[in-house]
Amino acid sequence: MKEEKKRKREIKPEKFQMVWCPACKGTGRSPNKDAEVKVCTLCGGFGWVRKEACDA
Ligand SMILES: [Zn+2]
Repeated sequence: MKEEKKRKREIKPEKFQMVWCPACKGTGRSPNKDAEVKVCTLCGGFGWVRKEACDA
C-alpha cells in the first residue's frame, strides 16, 4: 500500500474522459498575467477539461 501514496500525483485525467487543460497546463490559473480573472477561463480553475470539448 506504500505505492499508492507515491502515485498520488499520477492521476490520469484520461481515465475520466478528460485531459489536462491546454490553456493552463493543469494549473487552473490564467496564463495571462494581465487578465482580470486569475482563474483559467477554459477549465474554470479545475485544471482538467472534458476530452470532447478539446477535440471539437
Ligand atoms: Zn485551464
